[in-house]
Amino acid sequence: MAPEPRKCVRVLIVGGGYVGLYTALRLQRKLKAELRKGEAEIVVVSPDPYMTYQPFLPEAAAGAISPRHVIVPLRRVLEGCQVLVGEVASIDHAKRTATVSTLATEETGSRERLSYDELVLAPGSISRTLPIPGLAEHGIGFKTVEEAIGLRNHVIEQMDIASSTRDPAIREAALTFVFVGGGFAGVEALGELEDMARYAARYYHNVTPEDMKWILVEASDRILPEVGEEMGRYTVTELRRRNIDVRLHTRLESCADRIAVLSDGARFRTRTVVWTAGVKPHPVLAATDLPLNGRGRLRCTPQLSVDGVTHAWAAGDAAAVPDVTAEESGKETAPNAQHAVRQARVLGDNIVHALRDEPLETYAHKYVGSVASLGLHKGVAHVYGRKVKGYPAWFMHRVYHLSRVPTFNRKARVLAEWTLAGLFKREVVSLGSLEHPRAEFELAAGGKPSGDPKGSS
Ligand SMILES: Cc1cc2nc3c(=O)[nH]c(=O)nc-3n(C[C@H](O)[C@H](O)[C@H](O)COP(=O)(O)OP(=O)(O)OC[C@H]3O[C@@H](n4cnc5c(N)ncnc54)[C@H](O)[C@@H]3O)c2cc1C
Repeated sequence: MAPEPRKCVRVLIVGGGYVGLYTALRLQRKLKAELRKGEAEIVVVSPDPYMTYQPFLPEAAAGAISPRHVIVPLRRVLEGCQVLVGEVASIDHAKRTATVSTLATEETGSRERLSYDELVLAPGSISRTLPIPGLAEHGIGFKTVEEAIGLRNHVIEQMDIASSTRDPAIREAALTFVFVGGGFAGVEALGELEDMARYAARYYHNVTPEDMKWILVEASDRILPEVGEEMGRYTVTELRRRNIDVRLHTRLESCADRIAVLSDGARFRTRTVVWTAGVKPHPVLAATDLPLNGRGRLRCTPQLSVDGVTHAWAAGDAAAVPDVTAEESGKETAPNAQHAVRQARVLGDNIVHALRDEPLETYAHKYVGSVASLGLHKGVAHVYGRKVKGYPAWFMHRVYHLSRVPTFNRKARVLAEWTLAGLFKREVVSLGSLEHPRAEFELAAGGKPSGDPKGSS
């Protein structure tokens, strides 16, 4: 009698970010034998064929790291997995089916249906926006490598615009940069870009650092809560010392017609409004039959399975994971990379435990603090109760993230770039026209350029 065909367990991972990549890496290592024998299959669905190491985005915006070193190519590191570039549109977990749109299905208007046995839901978060007039038209986000590089080009381009006009209104709007939100992303992006623009000004005959206005708008009474109150206060002082206008207890009320109107009554002509005022769980979570909490995150157990459901797992920004190390009950782990990476490891292990009928592990990690860069040689840190500022904090930031960026290959490339940048001058040129590569040819061919080749917003 022929042997019964072995059942192949398909693990579907939605998202190729921190959680998606680290879970897949863990699974491909722990299920090596099963993958080889065809008893298991790991499918990673992600809109991009790469994972973005988000903590490096501010340095990419400043030009300290090239865009391709901020990302990790999924196909290259996940050789044991199948990578499907596409977006999960909905999930019917009761039927163990996900609906996926890919570049190919976009052309036909149809959608793929993908069945699975175990589901890992890790689509992360998206920017939390508000219905502020002008924000949708003029706001710039800061979550992707495209946005970081686009912002770099945009800032340099504003300096070029200011340098080439005698109109004071255009010049003022070009040289005023408004950042909304004083968390990691906003403070680091502003710190790095202001530093880069200050440096770039030396190559302009008519733009000085004093001509530029950098404004940080924060609704609460503090910035950078991740490094604690004292270091947050230090950061405000340090930014103000650099002539950056930090406005606490202030909100952006409008940015229509290129005028930023703040809740304290201030108005600024500006062509740059960067929105980094927090994140919210990815909307795809609402297109599933899985339980969400009041803030739209997936309700999870400390073992990282979705609460009350079998064969569904989640972690990272999308998941409400009970913080078992917290003194008060009901606390969830914060949406940050520190938890995402560690949760992914436990999650990967727990899937393997579940497949082997072994007991599950509990996720327990006490937040150890954070490091943040405020520009070249400037930083702030609060780690394991120790408060560090200035150059030592900046150095710690680099060492920490170098140790954390996935794969030896990336580490070596980033280190090489930092070393070269220390030996040579910074490159400060806008390549904004890269965003419209066909513009010149379209003009030559007699057509109308499809995009604004200046790429200004
Ligand atoms: C600029 C910036 C700096 C930061 N710096 C730090 C820092 O210094 N320290 C720190 O601890 N944290 C930092 N963070 C936060 C940290 O990056 C996030 O907490 C972390 O990325 C969360 O991991 P995740 O896997 O949940 O989500 P992500 O890493 O965002 O991954 C989600 C993935 O899911 C994909 N996806 C989305 N929708 C779908 C869909 N429908 N179908 C399939 N795939 C989908 C996305 O494309 C993405 O690849 C920073 C964030 C930003 C934006």
